[in-house]
Amino acid sequence: MVNVTVFGAAGRMGQRLVALTASDPELNLSGAVDWEGSPAQGKDAGTVAGVDALGVTIGSDIAGVLGGTDVVIDFSATQVVVDNAKTVVGAGKKLVIGTTGLSDDEKAELTALADSGGHIVFAPNMSVGVNLLFKLAGETAKILGSDYNIEIVEMHHNLKKDAPSGTAERLGEVVAEARGLSYANDTAHGREGLIGERPVDEIGMHSLRGGDVVGDHTVIFATNGERIELTHKASSRDTFAKGALRAAKFINTADPGMYDMAEVLGL
Ligand code: NAD
Repeated sequence: MVNVTVFGAAGRMGQRLVALTASDPELNLSGAVDWEGSPAQGKDAGTVAGVDALGVTIGSDIAGVLGGTDVVIDFSATQVVVDNAKTVVGAGKKLVIGTTGLSDDEKAELTALADSGGHIVFAPNMSVGVNLLFKLAGETAKILGSDYNIEIVEMHHNLKKDAPSGTAERLGEVVAEARGLSYANDTAHGREGLIGERPVDEIGMHSLRGGDVVGDHTVIFATNGERIELTHKASSRDTFAKGALRAAKFINTADPGMYDMAEVLGL
């Protein structure tokens, strides 16, 4: 049995993580944490998630819940992820991070924590389908080469705070690496005005926001005479939550280090 604490337990993802942890015979919900100002403070995590009461109250004291925890799953807020990770790893607990929007410096801090003995799975998208898309996009970029212009389009619900999505950034990194380009230097985020012809070695990034879209990602490879589009559409947050629970089971028995979902899924 793996004891799991959810950070961001009252959020859209957190509620599904709580509900699916409760129905998984290999997992036990040992703690639930959310922002101290959340209206869910003091309420039962199961009730907030819309399932039966679980006897686990949502609180804000991170260090206080870690005693009985094997793995923390963090789907909370970008600005607190690194501090949360320091507390969790410092307490000798294992960590799955799904929260997105981290800067390169923040990602480097997480890597340093893993290098110093922490156990971390960090992935901007935990669905099996998207992780297959990462692999296919990289291989397609390599096979097609520089004759094909690459554009990445993502669409999410109107409450999403960061752009482009962490998944779109990861897709950008994968195709940039496959083409010998740099995601940091060779991407164009949206286009406006008299910008001239499209450079060959440019990756276009485009973020659409609206309604309740859970998460759509398309990588377009366009050349004269044809184009290929690889698309993934998520229709339920459970696809991410199930992946996160799979990651929790994986990291519980893994050696120290930083892992992504490809390693969790054996892709
Ligand atoms: P949300 O806003 O619905 O939920 C976030 C929750 O975190 C809220 O309840 C908020 O009160 C809480 N929170 C804020 N500060 C906190 C703190 N200091 N400690 C604990 N909890 C805190 O957002 P969401 O849609 O559930 O997404 C959460 C994050 O997960 C986002 O970064 C999103 O991009 C990411 N996400 C990742 C994946 C993936 O597969 N990796 C999938 C979906 C969403």
